[in-house]
Amino acid sequence: MTESPHSLDPEDWEAFRALSHQALDAMIDDLASLRQRPVWVETPEEIRRRLNVPAPREKIGFSAALGEFYQSIQPYVVGNRHPAFFGWAHGAGTPAGMVAEMLAAGLNANCGGRNHVGIELERRVAAWMAQAFSFPAKASGLFVGGTSLANFLGVLIARHACLGESVRRDGVGGEKLRAYASTQAHGCVAQAMDMAGLGTEALRKIACDAQGRIDMAALKAQVVADRAAGEKPFLIVASAGTVNFGAIDPLALLADFAGEQQLWLHVDGAFGALAVFSDKLKPLLAGIERADSIAFDFHKWGHVPYDAGFILVRDGEAQRRTFAAPASYLTRAEAGLAKGEIWPCDLGPDLSRGFRALKVWMTLQTCGTRALGEAMEANCAAARRLAALIEASRDFHLVAPVPLNIVCFSLSGENGDAANRRLVETLHVRGLAAPSITLIDGRAAIRCAIFNHRTTMDDIDIFFAQASELATELRN
Ligand SMILES: *Cc1c(COP(=O)(O)O)cnc(C)c1O
Repeated sequence: MTESPHSLDPEDWEAFRALSHQALDAMIDDLASLRQRPVWVETPEEIRRRLNVPAPREKIGFSAALGEFYQSIQPYVVGNRHPAFFGWAHGAGTPAGMVAEMLAAGLNANCGGRNHVGIELERRVAAWMAQAFSFPAKASGLFVGGTSLANFLGVLIARHACLGESVRRDGVGGEKLRAYASTQAHGCVAQAMDMAGLGTEALRKIACDAQGRIDMAALKAQVVADRAAGEKPFLIVASAGTVNFGAIDPLALLADFAGEQQLWLHVDGAFGALAVFSDKLKPLLAGIERADSIAFDFHKWGHVPYDAGFILVRDGEAQRRTFAAPASYLTRAEAGLAKGEIWPCDLGPDLSRGFRALKVWMTLQTCGTRALGEAMEANCAAARRLAALIEASRDFHLVAPVPLNIVCFSLSGENGDAANRRLVETLHVRGLAAPSITLIDGRAAIRCAIFNHRTTMDDIDIFFAQASELATELRN
């Protein structure tokens, strides 16, 4: 049999094999030597120009394309694999997760539906997570890009649970739906309200206590006031690990209140929810098992390669009702590939979707949830150490509590805002470390979110010494 003259497969499989093995070796070398390189190197102007070419009409071939990758792409990535990367809320990845991504791409499974093992594996991950959060067997789960999207799905499911099937046909009409989250909630929650057609004003931002947790009395007062004004409370979005400094809302109290008021309780647990894998941290999440839905990311504290967001819904039927839509071309069969009652495409807006479950399954199999949990505990201990160094220093002071793995601090003295920004920018540009800047009470703070399983106490000490040196340098 001859191959199609239009096949895009390699002409020479042995040459392809050799190049591919080299590529894998190069990436393994890259991972094994992260520490010896800068956290971040800005993409040079010359490289930007080099990449700025029209889409290739004629091939340059795999070997040349790989050469371009080594030269123009590999050195200039964001840096979150490095042990001194402390910015935002990034996972570090694992080598096994990387290989899983390659294998998934090799299989090229479309996990929107149909009768194949990719769907089985996604159901298995959902069942594992349902068990981890003590959700019932009727719970359902779905991979999405990230928690931003998972929160959006949570809002849509809550909206449907409140208004019923008519909302899918007629929209929300004149109903004044109201949702509640703390002032520390992630910005994607307001965005989800916007995208759901409810408007950002329909999200009531409730004040926090000194620990950054939602103030229950203020929440209750707002719900009562909204009902009195003829509005329709439907949803509470709790944070399990706020983005700024990791506060966890009082989930059990919120579950009580949501139950009393018949409100949907959705938990944004983007990074914090996976602390359920740690015996020591799990008690901080008490009450999460009573939520109606939980959004979280395997790609943050779970270290699964990007992207791997997830939503878990207590009542799987509520999720299916929100999204399932009959389509002639998606008809189910008694046997064969089209067999199966509920497909992932019935549980969310994506139809074609990749095999994210494989890299999660592979990461959990390879590392085990215990090691993941212990790495989280080590991150929290590292954060406590950094906080102690800061508290003992004359250069810096803490500007927020440190309940988990995030330390927000500031240079002491005049002009802290600008100096904090300068310090962070200088650390980035020199490739030494990568904290980020956030605003705490409207002021620029240095934020170290310690998510990396590779970060050691020595890394923390070195970082602190570098920051202290820079503080002196910037003062002079
Ligand atoms: C990161 C984060 C999000 C957004 O998640 P993505 O995966 O980036 O979409 C939402 N909420 C919190 C608390 C986060 O930390």
